[in-house]
Amino acid sequence: MIIAMSARATEAEIAAVTGVISQAGLNAIVLPGGDRVAIGVASAIPHDLREPLAEQISGLPEVDHVAHVSRPYKLASREFHSADTVIEHKGVTIGAGEVVIFAGPCAVETPEQMAAAAKAVKAGGAKVMRGGAFKPRTSPYSFQGMGEEGVRLLVDAARSEGLLTICEVLDEYDVGVCGEIDFLQVGARNMQNYRLLTAVGRSGKPVLLKRGPSATIDEWLLSAEYILCQDNPNVILCERGMHPIDRTYTRYTLDVSAVPVARRLSHLPVFVDPSHAAGDWKYVSALALAGVAAGADGLIVEVHPDPAHARCDGPQALKPDVFLRLAEDVRRVAGAVGRPR
Ligand code: PEP
Ligand code: MN
Repeated sequence: MIIAMSARATEAEIAAVTGVISQAGLNAIVLPGGDRVAIGVASAIPHDLREPLAEQISGLPEVDHVAHVSRPYKLASREFHSADTVIEHKGVTIGAGEVVIFAGPCAVETPEQMAAAAKAVKAGGAKVMRGGAFKPRTSPYSFQGMGEEGVRLLVDAARSEGLLTICEVLDEYDVGVCGEIDFLQVGARNMQNYRLLTAVGRSGKPVLLKRGPSATIDEWLLSAEYILCQDNPNVILCERGMHPIDRTYTRYTLDVSAVPVARRLSHLPVFVDPSHAAGDWKYVSALALAGVAAGADGLIVEVHPDPAHARCDGPQALKPDVFLRLAEDVRRVAGAVGRPR
């Protein structure tokens, strides 16, 4: 932490700042400048002291501003954990170079839909099948998902094709009924639902954490920190599009740059969700390939056997044949950027 004093600061005002730092058990160094003094905290600041100390010092007379040197998250940061996190779960490895595909419909609807979707995503080489049983919908009148029955249908369809499962959870109840689900998803709307983050952390299951459409990268990583704090090291970050300037053609704006940035700041694997970013199946493949080229460790893609009759997000769902082509293109792009195919 660096504290910049205003040019008017007196010896006593500088001493007040160093006094607060010493009282906290930390060492202060006064760095004389040309026209003003800066004070550095020369010892590691315990994480729970970082914000209160900054707030206390900011309120002292003639403190111009306080700047943090280290990042606000610890467990999620490469500063404290330089090697990439590799998630090994039930035979699926994420973060070791290979681009891993999660795919399936937005929502679980019928056994027939799930069986056809499972076959389609398996044929494209997906390792994990998605299917929403608890849907966070903008309108309370929209289909809210099949709940527990949806979880059952997802597990049955995926198992019959030898796939693992991922399901979005909205609250602690959902976490409880997802006992047989392999990966939990925290959706964009819930990225800052701290009780839910704690609950999925405690579940011990790997968690795919979507970035909120208005969240900064630091906020996203702080949300990951909530899960990691529960002794759950298996978090996948997922970029799924930011609030757009123009919604005429796409639903959100995929922040491709978030992929290399998150991979630099954090050791956690980073996925891209091209489906919710595009909102239109015609653009999903291009965004998916951009994500892979930018270094994504995996993709989560919506695939439906009959998008025209989907109960949720049909316009952005890929038909099985389009998904197959995308999966082949993903392998080609992965190879072109030096990743195992
Ligand atoms: C979803 O994956 O179906 C979903 C609701 O995604 P997001 O949270 O990114 O909107
Ligand atoms: Mn969806």
